[in-house]
Amino acid sequence: MRALSTYHAKRDFTRTAEPRGRVARGSAKALRFVVQRHDATRLHYDLRLELDGVYKSWAVTKVPSLDPATKRLAVEVEDHPIDYGTFEGIIPEGQYGGGTVQLWDRGTWIPEGDESPEAALAEGHIKFTLDGERMKGGWALVHMRDKPAKGRGKPHHNWLLIKEKDVAAKPDKPDALLAADTSVKSGRTLVEIAGGKKPKVWNSRPPTSVTASPVARNAESKKKSLKRRKV
Ligand code: MN
Repeated sequence: MRALSTYHAKRDFTRTAEPRGRVARGSAKALRFVVQRHDATRLHYDLRLELDGVYKSWAVTKVPSLDPATKRLAVEVEDHPIDYGTFEGIIPEGQYGGGTVQLWDRGTWIPEGDESPEAALAEGHIKFTLDGERMKGGWALVHMRDKPAKGRGKPHHNWLLIKEKDVAAKPDKPDALLAADTSVKSGRTLVEIAGGKKPKVWNSRPPTSVTASPVARNAESKKKSLKRRKV
C-alpha cells in the first residue's frame, strides 16, 4: 500500500485546499514536527512527527499536558504528506475533517533510545525530544495495548501522549499550553482564521486527564454520548 493512500482516499482535492502532497524523497537531518490545532467535530491538537518522508500523525484530544502525571489520549490517524505541515486554513464543511486548522507549533524532534524510531513505533512505545516553539523537552507516546482477551473487537489506535519529567515539565500546571491560542505561522486565532466565525465547537470546559483504565474510558464515552444527545 502506498504510504499516503489513506490520506488521499479520505479527501476530495477539488474541494479542499489541503495539499495533495507526496512522499518526500531524501531525509532531512533534523526531523520536523508540527502541531495543528483543528476545530472539527471536536477541538483537538494534531501532532505530526516526520518519519520516512511523511508525517506520522496523532489526534490529541486535549491540549498537550505539561504534567507528566496527566496523560492525554492521542488517536493515531493516517500518515500525512510533509506539505501538510505548513497548512493553515479552512477545510470546507462536509469534507473530511471539515473545520478550521491553525498551525499551533512547529520545530524539530529527535527520537531517543538505541532503537530506530520505526521499531519503537511498531512496538508502541517511543520517547523523543521536541524543540518546538511551545512543546519542548522529553515526551513519550505509548500505545494502549489491547486487553488480554485478544481477537475481540477492532484493533484500536489509541495512544497516550505523556510529558517526561524534565525542566520543561510543569507538574502543577498541566494546562499551561491552553494560554497559547495563536498561530505560530500567522499569529491568528482560530476565530480569525475562520474569518471571524466563532468555531462551532468551542472547548470551554477545563480539560480533564485521560487514563488507561476501562472504567475511566467508559465514563468518558458516556459523557461524549450525553453531549452528543444534547447537541
Ligand atoms: Mn484533525
